[in-house]
Amino acid sequence: MKLSNYFLPIIKEIPSDAKIKSHQLMIRTGMIRQSTSGIYSWLPLGFKILKKIENIVRDEQNKAGAIEMLMPTIQSAEIWKESGRYDSYGQEMLKINDRQKRELLYGPTNEELITQIFRDNIKSYKSLPLLLYHIQWKFRDEIRPRFGIMRCREFLMKDTYSFDLNEKNAEISYYKMMLSYLKTFERFNLKAIPVKADTGPIGGNLSHEFIILADTGESEIFTDSEIFNFETKLLEYNDVSLKKLSSHFSKFYSSTSDLHDVNKFQKQVPKKNQIIKKGVEVGHIFYFGQKYSKSLNAIVNTRESKSVNVYMGSYGIGVSRLVGAIIEANYNNNFMKWPKSVTPFQAVIINLGKDNDTVTIKANNLYQKLIHNKFDVILDDTDANPSSKFKNFELIGIPFQIIVGSKHHDDEFEFKELGKDSKIVNLDSLISILKEEYSNC
Ligand code: ATP
Ligand code: MG
Repeated sequence: MKLSNYFLPIIKEIPSDAKIKSHQLMIRTGMIRQSTSGIYSWLPLGFKILKKIENIVRDEQNKAGAIEMLMPTIQSAEIWKESGRYDSYGQEMLKINDRQKRELLYGPTNEELITQIFRDNIKSYKSLPLLLYHIQWKFRDEIRPRFGIMRCREFLMKDTYSFDLNEKNAEISYYKMMLSYLKTFERFNLKAIPVKADTGPIGGNLSHEFIILADTGESEIFTDSEIFNFETKLLEYNDVSLKKLSSHFSKFYSSTSDLHDVNKFQKQVPKKNQIIKKGVEVGHIFYFGQKYSKSLNAIVNTRESKSVNVYMGSYGIGVSRLVGAIIEANYNNNFMKWPKSVTPFQAVIINLGKDNDTVTIKANNLYQKLIHNKFDVILDDTDANPSSKFKNFELIGIPFQIIVGSKHHDDEFEFKELGKDSKIVNLDSLISILKEEYSNC
């Protein structure tokens, strides 16, 4: 991409209504623009990052054996009346009437709709276990939308639903999702801890929120530092790994403020290990058994020809909130550095010789070579002065810069990783460095 052809509306000043860093940076770097309270447009830079995050979430869901589908944003009120949540969900639900005066709503979540699809199409235990998911926009009419896309009204969520024949199998599905969440967040370089949580309006028996530590977070967590000593890389989706996982996370105290028990915390967690911190909720998993399968009549026949209401769980990741959460976890002194897995471009080429044809040709040639080698790079070919080019790209946080000026020979490039000193490299080593840096993404 050449910057002169791109749409990147950068703002110099810190927007006065943006209270937290991620919101400020997303506005300043032209990632998002507010349409109306809590509703945002995603401009090209923000959209590109959002898509990268979405694809990683999708990849890890697929690896865990979940199957992708797509349900609509608009749902009928009927099924919500059947489940009893049409009234109990409260004012966060946006209710709509169509021209025939039929009652519709913009989906805040999809337990009802997926249960309806299940009950109309699945009748036998032979179809179980089943994990279905979709990645779709949700609407919740939050009373106080704030912090940009972190707590907004329209947001992108990945939601998975599990269907099992009995409680024991349903627990396996639950821990499969827990493992897949840990693997997902690690790919963004985020350390997210599953914390025992209240089940809220979803209802049910077992629930964990996934929290990343950040001072600007709205959740408060109480836990033991030992909980972080856990490697998920080698764990697979089998009984042994899932047992290891569940026993590790049930061994250490972890709780949100809703369920926090001060006495238990003091007794169970040695003083030096006690963590009481703010965090951002990036995911939430629930096991709620037969709650919806009973109210919506989702029944399967067992091997013994008995009828059983299916056992269910639901599992959400805030895909759009993750964009802000990754910024909160990575910014440093006003500057961003994107994790390599989600950076909008792998490197930026900064042409410092806007009036110098030789330099411009050299920068263009480098751009063509990198594109040819399948790197996703952006070339700053604009007339802006060098200092504003540097400032803008430090603000945006693309991890690598290649600076092309008149100082160096034909096959010499200044290569700089953000936050480190630059070095001079030739084209071949430049390509191998980038290949190496992005080999795991
Ligand atoms: P919160 O406690 O933050 O209000 P929730 O518990 O109501 O969230 P869930 O129903 O668990 O949310 O939704 C799954 C995920 O969707 C959350 O973990 C969060 O990452 C994301 N999410 C929920 N509400 C919002 C929102 N208003 N804006 C952006 N993301 C959200
Ligand atoms: Mg939640």
